[in-house]
Amino acid sequence: PLNKSELGNHTWGFLHTMAAYFPEQPCMEDQRDMAQFLRLFSRFYPCPTCARDFSKLIDKEPPRTGSQNELKHWLCWAHNQVNKKLGKPKFDCSKLDERWKFGWKD
Ligand code: FAD
Repeated sequence: PLNKSELGNHTWGFLHTMAAYFPEQPCMEDQRDMAQFLRLFSRFYPCPTCARDFSKLIDKEPPRTGSQNELKHWLCWAHNQVNKKLGKPKFDCSKLDERWKFGWKD
């Protein structure tokens, strides 16, 4: 089985990659469904404390799904909230596409 750290690392990889390919101009249905997906995801994420805290985060600051850019930056912000809680360094969200879409130049 995956431990909490492996599960988290793989899940963030999936979430950020999904956001990187979300439509730049999503239709209303895509906007609504992505917000719903993230809520449902947070309900069933198989680490109870992670799921509880992430659900609370979503209640406080609902996912922004109006565009690919909004979604990517909301997710970067949300991941940084988790980083802060765990004492991990804050990620520079201006590097999102390099990290998750196009690859580092060096
Ligand atoms: P990760 O945090 O998994 O990040 C993977 C990679 O993403 C990093 O190497 C970096 O390149 C990149 N990255 C880092 N920050 C950002 C960002 N802000 N935006 C974009 N890219 C970024 N663990 C717990 O112990 N307690 C919890 O409550 C908890 N809650 C979680 C909630 C969710 C929704 C998820 C998906 C995971 C949660 N985890 C939690 C797991 C935790 O966040 C890490 O995934 C785990 O500790 C492994 O960390 P890591 O060092 O591999 O890097």
